[in-house]
Amino acid sequence: MGIATIPGLTNARVIRPGYAIEYDHVDPRELKPTLETRRVGGLFLAGQINGTTGYEEAAAQGLLAGLNAASRAGRGGDITFDRAEAYLAVMIDDLVTRGVTEPYRMFTSRAEYRLTLRADNADQRLTARGIAIGCVGAQRRARHEAKMTAMEAARDFARSVSLTPNEADRHGLALNKDGQRRSAFELLSHPNIAIADLAKIWPRFGDLPPKIAEQVEIDAKYDVYLSRQAADIAAYRRDESLELPEGLDYSQLRGLSNEVRQKLNSARPRTIGQAARMDGITSAALTLLVAHLKRNGRFAKVASTGR
Ligand SMILES: Cc1cc2nc3c(=O)[nH]c(=O)nc-3n(C[C@H](O)[C@H](O)[C@H](O)COP(=O)(O)OP(=O)(O)OC[C@H]3O[C@@H](n4cnc5c(N)ncnc54)[C@H](O)[C@@H]3O)c2cc1C
Repeated sequence: MGIATIPGLTNARVIRPGYAIEYDHVDPRELKPTLETRRVGGLFLAGQINGTTGYEEAAAQGLLAGLNAASRAGRGGDITFDRAEAYLAVMIDDLVTRGVTEPYRMFTSRAEYRLTLRADNADQRLTARGIAIGCVGAQRRARHEAKMTAMEAARDFARSVSLTPNEADRHGLALNKDGQRRSAFELLSHPNIAIADLAKIWPRFGDLPPKIAEQVEIDAKYDVYLSRQAADIAAYRRDESLELPEGLDYSQLRGLSNEVRQKLNSARPRTIGQAARMDGITSAALTLLVAHLKRNGRFAKVASTGR
């Protein structure tokens, strides 16, 4: 059995089983977040050449590198996504910021904002970006916009109708008897209240297309957790908005250790946020960088970072 079943190998005999995959790769820290190489302008790399393994990993990078190559050819700007927007952004940020010590695989645990990065809301997160970039066809765009309009209307309706615990009781919904009026959207956040239960009270929910009803219910269930995560995302985006000048010579910055200087000079992080995610960059070093930006009047917003 086994190998002999393959045509042409009928008489083959395995003498010693073996398995090895070896390949060279580029240190992904040599890449910009657009996956363009720093050394050769206009050359974009994607896939295992960047030290990753996996079909989806390669495909996601191919998408971003391809978008950027096309944008460059059409004299457009850089196209990037952030860690709170897409798994591919988490992967690319990990690669270009931290490099790889072994073949990189995208695990969900690598993403800080997993509650936001869900498969069910991928279109809500990214299709509008695709439309803005120009890579979503007319048909899909129309379908997406119709879905978003229907979602919005359903969400607005769910927020506009409400009942008290006593009224809920009369409909067979057991709630805390705290006298507090709750909107249908808030009711949906309860684990044992489904949109079908609410359709008995407000028939309009029963008329929703099943996919819209399901999505509104999912969004409501996550809503309370997402508002907690929103503060973390805002802090992350604030640091990402603090851009470090491209030609900044870190060896001239007083107070940084030689090791940190070397790391910054070779990695050239684009933002304070990216610098913070590099190995070995201390909070003292970040404070110095922010102070430098402030001194040079580069960012009015710096004062509000809390660093
Ligand atoms: C045995 C095995 C099993 C695997 N199983 C899985 C799995 O189950 N799930 C999973 O997610 N991943 C799996 N992987 C990993 C996955 O296959 C790779 O990580 C992924 O295919 C890498 O994609 P890529 O586009 O970077 O490279 P590749 O898929 O290797 O594509 C590179 C292409 O470039 C071509 N090429 C090379 N040199 C030149 C040249 N000079 N001119 C023109 N073309 C050239 C090659 O022929 C090839 O078609 C497996 C890998 C192996 C080896």
